[in-house]
Parts: sequence; C-alpha cells; structure tokens
Amino acid sequence: MDIPKTQKALITDPPGPNSKSVIKEIPVTAPGEGEILVKLNCTGLCHSDVHLMRDDWGDRGLSMMTKIAGHEGAGVVVAVGPKVTRFKVGDRAGIKWVADTCGECEMCTNGTDELQCPKQLNSGFTADGTFRQFATTSARYATRIPDGVSDEEAGPLMCGGVTSYIALRRSAVRAGQWVVIMGAGGGLGHFAVQYAKAMGMRIIAIDGGPGKKELCEKLGAEQFIDFTVEKDIPERMKQITTWGAHGVIVTAGSKAAYDQAPYFLRPGGTMVCVGLPKENFNAGAPPLVIALRRLNIVGSVTGTLKDVDEALDFCARGLVKPILVKGSLSDIEDLSAKMMAGQLAGRAVIDLWT
Ligand code: NAD
Ligand code: ZN
Ligand code: ZN
Repeated sequence: MDIPKTQKALITDPPGPNSKSVIKEIPVTAPGEGEILVKLNCTGLCHSDVHLMRDDWGDRGLSMMTKIAGHEGAGVVVAVGPKVTRFKVGDRAGIKWVADTCGECEMCTNGTDELQCPKQLNSGFTADGTFRQFATTSARYATRIPDGVSDEEAGPLMCGGVTSYIALRRSAVRAGQWVVIMGAGGGLGHFAVQYAKAMGMRIIAIDGGPGKKELCEKLGAEQFIDFTVEKDIPERMKQITTWGAHGVIVTAGSKAAYDQAPYFLRPGGTMVCVGLPKENFNAGAPPLVIALRRLNIVGSVTGTLKDVDEALDFCARGLVKPILVKGSLSDIEDLSAKMMAGQLAGRAVIDLWT
C-alpha cells in the first residue's frame, strides 16, 4: 500500500481528571531496525487507558509519558525495518501493553517473569499507544494474529483477554470448582467468564445492573449477584458454595470489591488482584484471617508473548468471543465516561478508520 505521510491520532495533553483528548494529524514514522510498521485497524479501550488519561495513578508516579494512550491494537504490517525476519508485509500483528522487552535480562530469561523486564516499553504509557492509525513496534515482541480471529476480536484480547485468562490460571481453581469474578460484566470480567467456562470452572459473577446480569448469564455464569442491590453478599456466597469459593478474581477497580473479596474464599482459597483502582489502599485481610484460613492473596499482570498466543487460540477455536461496543476515535471520551459510570457491558473497540 501507499503509506501516507500523516495519520489521525487521539492526543491526551496533558492527562488529568478533566482532560479532554482531541484528534490531531501527526506524522507516520518509518520502522527502524528490528521494527515493523503496523496499519492498525482496531484498538480496544481498556479501563487502564481511562485511568492513565485521567492520571488516576499520578500520585504513585504512574503518569503517561506519551500523549497517545491505547494498548490493544490489531492490524496489518505495511513495512518492515532492517533485520526483521519474524514478520513480512501483509502479515497481521497485535500490539500489547508490553510493547517490547530486552529479551536478555534475568526477568526476560527465567521463563516466568518477562513482564517484569526493567527495560520494557509500555504502549500508551512509556511509548506511544494504539489510539492512532499507524504504529511502529518491535518485530520481536509483536503478536502474530491467527486466522479465525478478526482484528476487532484480536485487539481486546491483547490486554483484556489475556489478562483474564492468566488471572484464572493464577487462581489455581480447577475444573468443577467455584470461581467468583468481581466486575464480571466489564471488559476483563466478560472475558474471565468465558475463559473460566472453557476451563470447566463454576462461575459466580458479580457486577451491577440488569445489562451486566444478562451478559454474564449468556456467557456461562451459573450465578449472578448484583452488588448494587444485594445486601449481604458473603451470606449469598455461603448459600451457593457452603464453604466459600476456591478462587476470587477481582477485575473491578473498586475498593469495595477488594474489601469484600477475601471473605468469599473457602480455607486455602486464592484471591487474584487484577483491578487497579484510582484510590490507593492495601488489598488483603487481617493476618489472623489470612493465616488461620490459609488464604492466598496474589497479583496478576497481563500475559507473556506465549500467554497471548494461548488466549488467541481460545478465540480461534470459538470458545471465547469478545462482546464489542463499537465506536471511533471521536467516541473514546464518551465511552470512557460510560466505563467510569459502570455502564459499559463487555469491551469497547475502536475502528480507527471511521
Ligand atoms: P471495566 O470498567 O470494563 O470493568 C469493571 C467492572 O467492574 C464494571 O463492569 C463495573 O460495573 C464493575 N464493578 C465496579 N465495582 C464493583 C464491585 N464493587 N463489585 C463487582 N463489580 C464491580 O474495566 P476493565 O477494562 O475490565 O478493567 C478493570 C480494572 O482492571 C481496571 O482497574 C484496569 O485498570 C485493570 N486492569 C488490570 C490489568 C492487569 O494486568 N492487572 C490489565 C488490564 C486492566
Ligand atoms: Zn489493559
Ligand atoms: Zn529484560
């Protein structure tokens, strides 16, 4: 294709509680050594983008160092830089939260911690993100998108999908056991329900409102608890599970959710911290509760290059299907507001060319 000299991008400058991002025309850059140029067709809108654009984590030193957010990109390679062998023009590629790692340090090579590489680049945080039409990115760390997964499905899987899948694995819940998903009707949560179902778990979905209830039940939740109306959620949990759940995945970025989660667990159960709230507080329970009930409180962050391939494979096999609210770059502000109000069921995906 003829690569244009300029492209549309959503610019956040500066990020902040009242920031309004605007669409601007910016240059398209050529790929450098080891890089590919991807024409992005779609990008998902993750709540982490909303947190970053609003500078919710600025008090903890996590403010955007770029003006372009977005980390769930999918599209097609239109140019390759020198020394690139892994991709050729015409291949499909996905861009993730971790856009690149060094590939050489202990974290990169010990087999489990590549997402802790101190030299990593993060899309929409330390590097330009995917709220634009063309992106140069690392050929070594970009994801190959398999046949059977469309770009609008692949985008949201780059963060929301893989994060939910890996959090469930981290919970160590086995087939036939109870898993609670807090925030089950949101972007991450609606993926978590589908992966949990595919993995044979029994699902208790928690979220608010009839729209979220309908979505969670359609996707395979056995029970739905509406946190906006249910007075005594721990009691409901006891009625359903007798001893408590084997695992709880907290995908809601909410203090109330984190406060309740440990009390849904049976002895020896595992709470997985995934949601990244605006408020700064500690997750967990008093030592007496954690020790005497032998609870595991663990964290989970997105997924490795290999994890993303596995997450995509569930979609290619028809086991997981993103539920998409569609929009364009000019809709991101409105969609973000809806997300903050808890009124967006499933994942929003942006068509970058409408
Ligand atoms: P989302 O807004 O789409 O979903 C959040 C859901 O939580 C909503 O449906 C909301 O109604 C629900 N919710 C709010 N309070 C609740 C409560 N008390 N109980 C149950 N449900 C409640 O957001 P998302 O894109 O799914 O992201 C969720 C969180 O995960 C964000 O904080 C985001 O920054 C974080 N995140 C973490 C990682 C990671 O790797 N750890 C990756 C991506 C996103
Ligand atoms: Zn994300
Ligand atoms: Zn490294």
